[in-house]
Amino acid sequence: MTNLFSLTCPTCGASLQSSGESKKVACVHCGNQYLLDKPIAELDDSQRQKISPSVTYSNRSGQWLKVADVDVYLHSFSDEVIEKEHVLCAEVEYVNRTESAMKIRHDQWIVFDKAGYTFEATMDYLHPKLYTGKIYIGRTRMLNPGMRLRGWLVFILPKDSEVECLQFSAGGVPIKTAEFRFASNAA
Ligand SMILES: [Zn+2]
Repeated sequence: MTNLFSLTCPTCGASLQSSGESKKVACVHCGNQYLLDKPIAELDDSQRQKISPSVTYSNRSGQWLKVADVDVYLHSFSDEVIEKEHVLCAEVEYVNRTESAMKIRHDQWIVFDKAGYTFEATMDYLHPKLYTGKIYIGRTRMLNPGMRLRGWLVFILPKDSEVECLQFSAGGVPIKTAEFRFASNAA
């Protein structure tokens, strides 16, 4: 008989039951999946109530994700052709709910394509088309406790490349990331 442990989903707060050998856990309520640093059985009770996953896997936008100390929200992720270029636009938001200032960088977001190539957001925010109507989030921003930051990042991919995922990395040691995978290119 497998021993079941009780955890709290870091995204939606639902209570989850999971066996102890695995480092993976899925939430049936919000649909997110988590990869933990250690098997669930090796965590203590307080760690199970407040898990800090190595990777949060999500297949939708529109929810607050806790990635290490960063509360991050993906408002939208769209796939467009602008002047014959394959352009991805992500609108993201952060809130600092900690007691310390934190640094937010544009290169914490990376697009992976199906061939394994990676793309950083373009900093060509003066381009007449790319950031039209979209506020560029900037290279580096300091977020004091309680502060909110919202803006757009634009990625330019080769015409024939297909998006595998959008990854957010909170950095730190051990590193914590979130990975957004959408059924189609548009979401
Ligand atoms: Zn959940």
